[in-house]
Amino acid sequence: MTSTDFLIIGAGIVGLSIARELKIRNARASILILEKEEQPGKHSSGRNSGVLHSGIYYPPETLKAKVCRQGAIEMADYHVRNNLPLDRRGKILVATRPEDAPQVEMLSQRARLNGVEAEIIDAHELKKMEPAVRSASDQALFVPSTAVGSPKEVLQTLIKEILSAGITLRCGVSIDQVIPKRAKLIINDGETIEYGHCINASGLHADKVAHLFNVGEHYTLLPFKGIYWKLSQKAPFSVDRLIYPVPDLRVPFLGIHTTTTTNGVTYLGPTAVPAFGRENYYGFDDVKPREFANIIRLLIRQFVSGQDGFRRLAWQEGRRYYKPWFVEAARKILPKLKSKDLLPTMKVGIRAQMLDLKSDALINDFLVESGPRSTHILNAISPAWTSAFPFARYVCNHYIEKG
Ligand SMILES: Cc1cc2nc3c(=O)[nH]c(=O)nc-3n(C[C@H](O)[C@H](O)[C@H](O)COP(=O)(O)OP(=O)(O)OC[C@H]3O[C@@H](n4cnc5c(N)ncnc54)[C@H](O)[C@@H]3O)c2cc1C
Repeated sequence: MTSTDFLIIGAGIVGLSIARELKIRNARASILILEKEEQPGKHSSGRNSGVLHSGIYYPPETLKAKVCRQGAIEMADYHVRNNLPLDRRGKILVATRPEDAPQVEMLSQRARLNGVEAEIIDAHELKKMEPAVRSASDQALFVPSTAVGSPKEVLQTLIKEILSAGITLRCGVSIDQVIPKRAKLIINDGETIEYGHCINASGLHADKVAHLFNVGEHYTLLPFKGIYWKLSQKAPFSVDRLIYPVPDLRVPFLGIHTTTTTNGVTYLGPTAVPAFGRENYYGFDDVKPREFANIIRLLIRQFVSGQDGFRRLAWQEGRRYYKPWFVEAARKILPKLKSKDLLPTMKVGIRAQMLDLKSDALINDFLVESGPRSTHILNAISPAWTSAFPFARYVCNHYIEKG
């Protein structure tokens, strides 16, 4: 039997940041993190685009708006203090259809409300800054503070930091049973772990783990796969800044964009195509018949209900599994792009997107729920990597310390 003050399930950026924050607040507390993989970073926190989002998209009252801007500042500072590669490239948002023009203005206002510097530029300035990029309206939005960082290096550095602070990380551990009333759980080798407070930060499995605590039973995960292609070095153009389309703000995805990483590779993507399993990164990996059937059932249900622009999303994104449709989408921001300019890559991630079965709505904001002596991070979607440090403080202030 092991006993710990705080037990954290999941060693992604969210679990590790909460562990770090708890240790800062309670130097003498015992903290144990359980990770099911042999090493952290196998899922979203090690597979994302690494963009430090500035926080312009989110309505000011949302939790995302509250933590993203400050998160980007702290994440950039973490890179600098630990000598991790960080490029402050800036980002340009362009309209992909003439009718998206008002969105550029609306995002500029939202940036102002969220305290983020952003400047509307005209077609002439856009051409000067990024000759290969076009906007379907005369305007684009330039956000100078957006940066690209190093997600895997951040995880490794955080792990070193928390281990040296006395936190225990056990990898290759899965949970067999939870007895929430007695604040105990049993892991795969039969060992019982007693906890003061348990934090579920298990990303793609957060709903299933929460259900073991009888929490969040009307939420279920709908996995969306983010596939990336790489811009060939032989392409007759390059881009310097990050180029994004103006997104459909009804759905929690940003559209196919460019991300030039700190080692100079330009990726296009990620898509948001339905995945056939929670960890279905390649081919038929991790496709389980029952889960697959459930995903298909949920997709049909969403399609029929037609909520949140889901039909448009399904129609647009579903086709992007295939290169010609992907290229067609990418050409909306890079009109000179040809199919041969895009090379396949192994870079792929799956978004832990929660669906509310009561309202049939995809959850757009971060979502946290309390259970008996437990806190459940149910929707740590993008930009949770950017926002991880202030989000961890928020979770400690509003949930763990109140629980
Ligand atoms: C394609 C893609 C691109 C993205 N781009 C960006 C971006 O540019 N900027 C940004 O800010 N955000 C981005 N995000 C979002 C960001 O990556 C996630 O919000 C963030 O990584 C979530 O972290 P997490 O700790 O909740 O999840 P994870 O990183 O998935 O960590 C959860 C951990 O829990 C473990 N686990 C699961 N179940 C159990 C269990 N039962 N027992 C023990 N351990 C368990 C998993 O193995 C995993 O290690 C992107 C996401 C994707 C998928």
